[in-house]
Amino acid sequence: MREPERKSVSRRLVRSPVYPLAATTPETHRAMALSLKISLPHTIPEPIPFNGLLTNSLLASLPGSEFEELLRYLEPVSLQAGHELYGFQKNIDYVYFPETAVISHLYLLEDGSTSGASIIGSEGMVGLTAVLGSRPPYYWTQIIVGGSALRIRAEVIKDEFARGRTLQQLLLGHISSRLSQLAQRAVCNGRHRVHERLCSWLLMIQDRVNEEELPLTHEQIAHHLGARRPGITASCNTLRDNGVISYHRGLIRILDRPTMEASACECYQALRGR
Ligand SMILES: [Zn+2]
Repeated sequence: MREPERKSVSRRLVRSPVYPLAATTPETHRAMALSLKISLPHTIPEPIPFNGLLTNSLLASLPGSEFEELLRYLEPVSLQAGHELYGFQKNIDYVYFPETAVISHLYLLEDGSTSGASIIGSEGMVGLTAVLGSRPPYYWTQIIVGGSALRIRAEVIKDEFARGRTLQQLLLGHISSRLSQLAQRAVCNGRHRVHERLCSWLLMIQDRVNEEELPLTHEQIAHHLGARRPGITASCNTLRDNGVISYHRGLIRILDRPTMEASACECYQALRGR
């Protein structure tokens, strides 16, 4: 009687597919992130003087009186590329309104692979889970392109959100855009080729950066696209040989935007302006 039971269990185990799991503890998550060298530890963002120019779309859309109430809590900071804003399952004390910085959510899986989710620039805000009262996120929040942002304590924005004024409407619109981006990228990751995903991703980053040159290495891009670095290098070489981009010492410049857009998957146009 015992022998058949053991065989049955064994067959079930053999037949069970093995999927990579999301890293489930802060310790394993951090150990993997360090071994992959995908993110530098969190450091306190460097304060900078307020330049008086408001480039974050959410803050710029607030009525003057509502913005004035928030102004005394807003703190301009400089964010460095490669550093983390929030670690895996860490509580969020501050939310960030990017101005020139570009920020991404990055998932780590137990097989050592990574994949990026949202890309957030001056059109949005980082730290929504704290405002919505959700549990700390299961992803890593990393600065892709360094630059400036305005930060504010999460409870201040949470209180303002609860008042139901303009900021609430703006944030609800931003949440809707983020959901659209997540849905589109889920389809993109499953259905589109690495080359066209790379073109879409670079265009999305370029749209959020004021500079002509994007400070991105092939390894960084591979982590965010959930692709292997040799594949990214091969695609970058093709784009460079065709005069679409140039790259030198970790700086990528888009030279021929129309061809880049034609090479991108449909997801770029679907998400453009969101
Ligand atoms: Zn796509």
